Amino acid sequence: LLNSDRSFTANQSLTVYDNTGGVLTPFGVINKGEKYAIISYLGDWIQIDFSGRIGYIYGPAVTVGFSPNDKYFKVLEDIVTIYDNSSGSLVPVGYLTKGQVYPRVSDFGDWHKIQLSNKYGYIWKAATAVVSNPYIANENRSSVKFGNILFKALQNLSVYDTSSGSLISFGEINMNQTYRAISEYGSDWLKIDFSGRIGYVYKPATEVTYISKTIFLDPGHGGHDSGAADGGYLEKNINLSVAKKVKSILTGRGYTVIMSREDDTYLDLYERAGKANQLNADIFVSIHTNSAGKSSSPVNGIESYYYEYDPEYPSKINVDMHNNPERVSRSITLTKIIQEKLISYTGATNRGVDGASFAVIRESKMPATLIELGFITNNNERQKLVSNSYQDTLARAIADGIVEYLKHY
Ligand SMILES: [Zn+2]
Repeated sequence: LLNSDRSFTANQSLTVYDNTGGVLTPFGVINKGEKYAIISYLGDWIQIDFSGRIGYIYGPAVTVGFSPNDKYFKVLEDIVTIYDNSSGSLVPVGYLTKGQVYPRVSDFGDWHKIQLSNKYGYIWKAATAVVSNPYIANENRSSVKFGNILFKALQNLSVYDTSSGSLISFGEINMNQTYRAISEYGSDWLKIDFSGRIGYVYKPATEVTYISKTIFLDPGHGGHDSGAADGGYLEKNINLSVAKKVKSILTGRGYTVIMSREDDTYLDLYERAGKANQLNADIFVSIHTNSAGKSSSPVNGIESYYYEYDPEYPSKINVDMHNNPERVSRSITLTKIIQEKLISYTGATNRGVDGASFAVIRESKMPATLIELGFITNNNERQKLVSNSYQDTLARAIADGIVEYLKHY
């Protein structure tokens, strides 16, 4: 057993127990104020190496310290000041309130370094605690940046946090600066992502412009990677043909559409997601054609996937993504809407929607879906899939689904 990079400080004198006999047998004492490394947690208990013997101490009686890798902290005091030290001295620039969970940029001695607007802020560590699971009921973690609203500040604008139940200013947008909002909030407010923290600005003090959404289409496979194949037809060509049709419909409706590939070229899965992330696209739609092993298989129909965390396939370039509940729920909505349209437009067998950890929908940072248009291995369905008119129908369904989804967000 190895110590983790985390330690605790005893808040009181602590008994160390051995549980190898199935009962807790005290065998040592840790004095108040002493610091020990943690091996692991076991419910309320913390496993430690106490002089070469594995022991357990009662977790609530200790203060767990921050490890350099901790990404979040929780505020313990009613009001905790955020300081800016860019001038060389500590200047208060905002507050966090009790119960807030906030992301860290890094450890900074006795301080947490946080991102605040385009500069750093510092929070006194002693007023905070480690959060083992920061993904609960806290609005201030979203890294999703989308929304079709650009606004220009007509005056210096305060950015407010409402998570404590009252408006607390935590940042400022200077006059004439332009920002992209996440959404409108009621008639008077704009919801924004202010450097990783959700905030609200007063809309009447802004000039709002509505911009078109950016849709990223990813026709699966390409180049030497044909995908599924049957009856002389290749998946990669069906995917590309349908994606191009979707693009043309959406472009005609004023949307910005970018494709991972416009021709028969090969890209790996990470390049596809990476391109979409770099563009900060609003949604990611991957288009594939299914197969069921052998040719002439009776299996047919349409199915779609949204991202679901699978510990066997951890993210490589987008480690925080599965922890973003907003993105996950939007992905499910997007997937369901498109699937519904596909079924109603084509009359194909509805194989439903499901969660999966496919790389493209895992590594893309925006709401994402992966569509399987039908089975190339089913004779009937293949005949349709390669026909221009059926591809038009599929494309109309996908485009209409995307447009309907974007109405909600
Ligand atoms: Zn495929």
